[in-house]
Amino acid sequence: MGKLIGKTALVTGSSRGIGRAVAERLADEGALVAVHYATGADAAREVVAGIEKNGGRAFAVQAELGVPGDVDTLFAGLEKGLEEHTGHTTLDILVNNAGIMAMLQPAEVTPELFDRMMAVNAKAPLFIVQRGLSLIPDGGRVINITSGLTRVASPEQVTYGMTKAALEQIALHFSRHLGGRRITVNSVAPGSTDNGGPVFQVPEIREALSRLSTFGEVAEPTAVADVVAFLASNDARWITGAFIDASGGTLLG
Ligand code: NAP
Repeated sequence: MGKLIGKTALVTGSSRGIGRAVAERLADEGALVAVHYATGADAAREVVAGIEKNGGRAFAVQAELGVPGDVDTLFAGLEKGLEEHTGHTTLDILVNNAGIMAMLQPAEVTPELFDRMMAVNAKAPLFIVQRGLSLIPDGGRVINITSGLTRVASPEQVTYGMTKAALEQIALHFSRHLGGRRITVNSVAPGSTDNGGPVFQVPEIREALSRLSTFGEVAEPTAVADVVAFLASNDARWITGAFIDASGGTLLG
């Protein structure tokens, strides 16, 4: 513990699920964490309070992503919070985690749904990285939470898979763009991870999802958060442009 003392981090969508676990883990390592949310103000407050109770530092930032002005709103709140807590606006670690998913037969996909999902899952992260680069110092970190579904056929998730495949392109191209500044850019791809949502409480569904992993279980969000914390640390300084399979062996086939 303590590998991120003195660092600052933004974790989008960290009011619940995987993002929450990432925020808590980075804070445990000593980072000041911006806990971003769209609608879950109470949940975000709870995450911040929990981090503070454990001796960590965090603040909440609201911004709905995928709508006009989203990045401006996010960075206004982020910069205000960073300034208040540190006296500067340096952002060492950016985790693009917020995302939306929908299960739809291919015939049910509509242009509107495609646009919405692409806007939240791929367009927003691109422009968050673009804007974030004015705050990220040399040696900083960009980590995008993608999905094992970019590597496994799942017809009901064709749109979601397309958005995550687009998101994965950020690591490839920005790792080259930012290599000279020693900023690493990587993708972390979870498999089925219990985000507290109702489907994980349905025994038959949980069992079916468990069988996808070679470990025979759905992941706890902390399992993914530990991988993110490693990539955020100095120990991972030589990993960039990578696709990190954090699916518990779901991609083994
Ligand atoms: P989740 O529990 O559904 O939480 C989503 C988070 O993102 C919430 O904090 C939510 O904030 C925020 N968010 C959603 N839409 C937003 C928007 N339009 N603007 C701003 N914030 C928004 O998610 P999760 O299951 O933990 O997944 C986290 C990431 O991992 C996602 O990118 C997901 O695609 C990926 N992933 C998940 C799994 C899995 O099995 N859980 C597997 C592979 C990949 P509010 O609550 O405030 O709306």
